[in-house]
Amino acid sequence: MKKGIVYLVGSGPGDPGLLTLRAKELLEKADVIVYDRLGADEVLPFANPEAELIDVGKIPGLHNTPQEIINEIIRNKALEGRTVVRLKGGDPFVFGRVSEELTTLCDAGVDYEVVSGVSSAIAGPAYAGIPLTDRKFASSVVFVTGHEAEGKTNSNIPWQSISGIDSIVILMGIGNLSSITQKLIQFGRNPESSVAIIEKATTPLQRTVEGTLASISEIAIREKVTSPALIVIGDTVSQRSIFKWYEKRPLFGRSLILTRPLEQSRDLSDHLRKLGAAVHVCPTIKIQPIECNQTLTRFFSDIGNFRDLVFTSINGVRIFWEKLFGAGYDARLLSGKNILCIGPSTSAEMKKYGIKADFVPEKYVAEEIIPWFKKRDPARVALLRAEKAREILPLELEKAGYSVEIITLYKTIFTRELSVLAKEKLVEGKIDGVLFTSSSTVESFAEAIAEAGISNSLISAFTIGPVTSDTCRIHGIKIVAEASEYTSSGLAEAVKNYFINTMKV
Ligand code: SAH
Repeated sequence: MKKGIVYLVGSGPGDPGLLTLRAKELLEKADVIVYDRLGADEVLPFANPEAELIDVGKIPGLHNTPQEIINEIIRNKALEGRTVVRLKGGDPFVFGRVSEELTTLCDAGVDYEVVSGVSSAIAGPAYAGIPLTDRKFASSVVFVTGHEAEGKTNSNIPWQSISGIDSIVILMGIGNLSSITQKLIQFGRNPESSVAIIEKATTPLQRTVEGTLASISEIAIREKVTSPALIVIGDTVSQRSIFKWYEKRPLFGRSLILTRPLEQSRDLSDHLRKLGAAVHVCPTIKIQPIECNQTLTRFFSDIGNFRDLVFTSINGVRIFWEKLFGAGYDARLLSGKNILCIGPSTSAEMKKYGIKADFVPEKYVAEEIIPWFKKRDPARVALLRAEKAREILPLELEKAGYSVEIITLYKTIFTRELSVLAKEKLVEGKIDGVLFTSSSTVESFAEAIAEAGISNSLISAFTIGPVTSDTCRIHGIKIVAEASEYTSSGLAEAVKNYFINTMKV
């Protein structure tokens, strides 16, 4: 039997970009992933899809899984010969409570490795624009747990020595904030020292609240600061006013909903996240290839009779090739054909299969392709597309004397998936925009919110182009911006420009 092993892996503070290469590699090959923190959501998309995921923060009926049970889970899974990743927030050795888990593994003779992560204690201040050291006014730093402070007379924490350190970073301190600040003042720290609290650091929901040692606990209550948060005390806190790079990004503090199918949302969501937005992916449609597609099979064997092939979407291209290969053909089947792709993304997808489109209209609408046909003698043309599509293209082509064959490649199913979180945020007016990349995403989203009893008036739509915008109008959804280049990066650009010009209220 394969020998099991446990990797104790730091997942970083939240931003998936701060995951180490080693951590990513191990997540990809793990058989079992044991995790217990919210931030894990951000890095679990990297996990081996076959891996067994065990959320030890949420065993039904229990708030937190008792430590002994976690110890047993990781030990037993490794003894079964599995590769176990025990994911810990930040760095596992910084307030990670690892000793019990490691002792259990040592006692059982289980192999283990520790994979350092970027600690929130380091990354939080960096993302808030607070250097922890500075040649002029900070040459010492201390990391402290604030968990112990409350009313303890026998605290292990030497607050007196700590009060003299230049930069003090306190983890787990929000619950005891007022007793911590009092102790530091009592031991001689200037009550006017600058303090910042960084909540949900390195995530799109990062929030930084500032004050002084004397004022911060009241400010934190007023601002309803919650865990996880770091408290940073020191003169370098004031440098934030210049260095708060993360909070200055154009979409920082904005929450957006993406309605595209999951597999196609990644580029757009990555792009928007890099601009600082919190992105909720709520796929409202699903692409379903037509199974046992007789029309397509006939088309493959009859392809000699066609001169022109028109592709209208990335999905169409992808499914076409899957089916073509599945039927035992290869790219030579398209030899000599004119390949037309509507929109730059469709032609980019086609290029992945080694075919450069003969014509790509600049605008991502079907009508723009008609002039190309009008310049040529009519022939037989195949439109390879979704079941439900606009009829204008076949009608215009027929008018121009072409013989048109429509080959349906896929159906668009309305899934109307709206997560509980997205619904709550919509109702609370906390969603700044909903992004639509096709008419079907609008139609399905409109149905989903109607079902959830959410008013259309709460939606601010960003659309990929005029056709999608028209569908929004039909459904009474307000459009705040439309992409000028009808692609997902054009849409991201429209969102960015809109928010750069709109002040956050
Ligand atoms: N091993 C972790 C710390 C675990 S203790 C690390 O290296 O980061 C848990 C505490 O870490 C929280 O109470 C909070 O103070 C801090 N913390 C973890 N993630 C955080 C985040 N994204 N933002 C702010 N504080 C965070």
